[in-house]
Amino acid sequence: MFDLIIRNAYLRKQDGIYDIGINKGKIFDISRKINDKGEIEIDANYNFVSPPFVDTHTHMDKSFTAIGERFPKYNDSSYIIDVPVSREKNISTGLEYFKNVTEEEIEKHILKHIYNQIINGTLFARTHVDIDNIAQIKSVTAALNVRNKVKNLFDFQIVAFAESGLLRDKESQKYVDMALKLGADLVGDLDPATVENNIEQSLDLIFEFAKKYDKDIDIHIMEPGTLGIYTIERLAKKIIDNNYYDRVTCSHAWSLGNAPVEWINNIIPILKKSKIKFVTCYTTTPYNFPLKMLIENEIPVACATDNVRDFWLIMGSGNPLQGLLIESQRLNMTSNNELDILWDTFTIQGAKILGITDIYGIEIGKNADLIIFDEPSPQWSIINQANKVYVIKNGKIIVENNNLLNEYKSLFNI
Ligand code: ZN
Repeated sequence: MFDLIIRNAYLRKQDGIYDIGINKGKIFDISRKINDKGEIEIDANYNFVSPPFVDTHTHMDKSFTAIGERFPKYNDSSYIIDVPVSREKNISTGLEYFKNVTEEEIEKHILKHIYNQIINGTLFARTHVDIDNIAQIKSVTAALNVRNKVKNLFDFQIVAFAESGLLRDKESQKYVDMALKLGADLVGDLDPATVENNIEQSLDLIFEFAKKYDKDIDIHIMEPGTLGIYTIERLAKKIIDNNYYDRVTCSHAWSLGNAPVEWINNIIPILKKSKIKFVTCYTTTPYNFPLKMLIENEIPVACATDNVRDFWLIMGSGNPLQGLLIESQRLNMTSNNELDILWDTFTIQGAKILGITDIYGIEIGKNADLIIFDEPSPQWSIINQANKVYVIKNGKIIVENNNLLNEYKSLFNI
């Protein structure tokens, strides 16, 4: 007798259908036909069953800050990637925002964000939360509180993110230190050249913090052109010098999207050697971002959702299926094989970035965390923007027909 059996499921890259047997929150059996019975049985009805989405780059502390009025707030000009002026404008909006917001309000935004993630099929995430001389550590404490509240449904890592620059806003260093001590999982910074104005010092400082607390690093590198490529190359070199292999994520890396192929070819050996990982976010991925090339070279690349209706970018929805559809258009990756590669970027590649591959995936012994769609493949799920018929966490149904079950709603004050 199983706790739960999912019958007639199509799995990634497998011909034919399978039954999945689940006991005590783990996958116990994957067979063509399980003869045993389940206490609960779900008929996937020849539809696709996937591990949940992994969203490697979010900003939960500011999610949904631009809603509530007839027109989107903070949205008078376009965000132009590669243009540092856009970044400066948003950093100052953030400082203004964090001046007045309370920790309780930030918690509400984080909870709303997580609720939105769960109903969209995401059960693992990483969030950057702002730290500077104004926000101080209130986003970190809010995120830690919420993490504790939702721990049975949703797992996320917290990046202590010096949004105004660790070097530029010297006071933020004190708060980043406090955040790492309190339990933030990673240290984050941005743009060592165009924000920090000193590539070497800025990178050295971030490694200093990471090593002091034995934490990983996730750094936003949005620098344009040759400057961006140079910065990424220096980051890879620092990873090697500090023996920090496999522990550093470079978020965005827009410069790779406008570099000639020869330049990228040139730096691939050092990127591979450093075991650096990349995250690109669907709202800002440059059209020529070399996603396939990096993956072919076994450099992990995940796609993520980034901002959700906030004062940086209004367009993000936090929905990976929408992200995949938009990414397929931005990157011109529309063939079956390319859609498969994209699917990986929101699932298994994301698990590599978060370092959770030991518990993640549809394999015997792994956590029974699953999505059952109403389409038979990743391709149709993206193209038709499939419904999440069930989302299952640790062998328990938590979402049915895109809705969180009532018993979990009180967690989110709904
Ligand atoms: Zn970001």
